[in-house]
Order: sequence, then C-alpha cells, then structure tokens
Amino acid sequence: MTEFRPIATPTRTVDIMKRYDIKMKKSLGQNFLIEPRMLEKMIQAGQIDQTTTVIEIGPGIGALTQYLAHYAERVLAFEIDQRFVSILGETLADYDNVQIIPQDILKVNFAADELTWLRQVSRLVVVANLPYYITTPIIMHLIESGLPFDRLVMMMQKEVAERMTAQVGTKAYNSLTIAIQQNMEAKIDFIVPKNVFIPKPNVDSAVLVLTRRQSPLVHVSDPLAFQSFVQVAFQQRRKTLWNNLKTALVNSDYSVDRLQELFDQTGIEPVRRAETLSIHEFAHLFQLYQQQNSLVN
Ligand code: SAM
Repeated sequence: MTEFRPIATPTRTVDIMKRYDIKMKKSLGQNFLIEPRMLEKMIQAGQIDQTTTVIEIGPGIGALTQYLAHYAERVLAFEIDQRFVSILGETLADYDNVQIIPQDILKVNFAADELTWLRQVSRLVVVANLPYYITTPIIMHLIESGLPFDRLVMMMQKEVAERMTAQVGTKAYNSLTIAIQQNMEAKIDFIVPKNVFIPKPNVDSAVLVLTRRQSPLVHVSDPLAFQSFVQVAFQQRRKTLWNNLKTALVNSDYSVDRLQELFDQTGIEPVRRAETLSIHEFAHLFQLYQQQNSLVN
C-alpha cells in the first residue's frame, strides 16, 4: 500500500500549481483546501465507507477527492475547468476508483443512460467543497435530479448555510430556507475558518449536512409554483405580506378583493411580514390561492 500523502497542504498545493503553471480562477470559485483535518471531518459527516459511492462537484487538484477515493467504494467527480483533468490524472494516480467527468455540473443530465448506474449503487452520497457562486443552483439541481442519495455534505459560505438552516422569525429565514427545508433536513456540522484555503476567501465557510425527509414538510399541488409564491412574499423584506403579494399578484385577472379573501379565509394577518410565517402557513395561503385561480380559469 502506498503512503497516504495529503494533497491538501500549503506546500503541496503551491507546488502543483507552480509545476503546471496554473493560476486559480476567482470566477470559478477556486479556493483550495489546505487542511487535512477539515477533509477528515467531511468524510465523517458523510459517513463514507467502502459501500459508499460518492458524487463530488469541483475536484480541483484533488484535495477532497483523494480522501473520498481512500474511504469510499467509488467516486464520480464533475469538474468544469479542463485544466485540472491531467493534473488529477497525476495527483490521483494511486486510485483506480475515481472517474473525472469534465463537465459543468449544472448541465449534467442525471437521467441520461450513462448515469443510470448511479441509481443502482448500494449507497449514494454527494460531498463537495462547492464553488460558492452557484451554491443554491447546484443544490436545487441535485434535489430535483431524483438521485437516490441519502445525504449531501456541502462546504459553502457560512451565511448561506445559516439561511438554509434558519428558524422562522429570525433574520436569516427567507425563501431559500423554505425551498431547502421543504424536502431536506439541514444541519450545520462545523464552521470552517478562512485560513484553510488557498487563496484565502473573504468569507467564513461552513459544512452543511442535508438529509432527505421521508416526505415533504408540506404537500402542495405545484412545488415550483409554491417556491415562486414564497419568493414574491419575501420580495421586499421590510414590506408587509399584503404589500408584497399585492404588487406581485394583483392584476386585471386577480383583484384586491380576492387577495383580501385569501387572508380572511386563512386567518393570517396581512400586516405580518414573510419572515414570521411558518412553511405550513405559506402552504395554506398558497393552496387557497391556487384554488381561487382554478375556479377562475
Ligand atoms: N475540491 C477542491 C478543494 O476542496 O480544494 C476544490 C474546491 S473549489 C472551492 C471549487 C471547484 O469547483 C473548482 O475546482 C472549480 O473549478 C469547480 N467548479 C466551478 N464551477 C463548476 C461547475 N459549474 N461545475 C463543476 N465544477 C465547477
């Protein structure tokens, strides 16, 4: 067995970048981990073992991929930046259980024939140190993919992790909280200091663990339309629900009286702000709104 030499150290990372004459691209969220302890904690958070298949997003030069390959059965890693493909061939040469797919994760069709095997593995998880500029689109893409993963372990901007785990009535609670918590249980596993990356980012990070709920927190007839409804309710945080919904919904087909009816029938005070509404209250408003529209159409 070859010696395990972490890629995630300052000297090795700088050395690899110099040898391949590569500069990191800020536009692609390239901040590389240089602290093995963070990687060990991610492995633990993912409960990675020899029966686990892992999807990784953005392997970079392989800091996290190396740990995943060491502990998991198999790793499938999607990387948008073609420059890293040959580097990964070298840094991960000791592992024959890693497949690199040079593709934008947001363009991956998980229903494609060549990826159906992912639905048959004994256990699937997603682990990534995410490119922060597309954290939410990536998570929504994975949730909507229908892949049978039991958890997502994601390093992201701390502030975004706080929104995803927020409680009703707090400053961090917003439409993203509801979009995530509808289908997933979200928990911050640990906080990550800025100085464990090259280059050092401007923001603190956190590792968030998302586990799938047995069934959605609320049942709504049209989940995508529900998300849009919640988004408009939060449009201007300081405004009341009444004002935000009036601006977004009232038009020649939907009168102010009908909006008033919505509040009367649900018993929800129109002067409340969106951040005080539980997901169940949002669902109640939304279902009635859908009913009103189906009666009109
Ligand atoms: N995994 C490495 C680590 O932990 O050090 C690198 C993480 S770095 C924060 C994010 C990685 O995501 C970069 O390698 C970047 O090129 C890649 N990336 C950015 N946008 C991507 C996309 N749309 N699809 C796939 N990979 C992407």
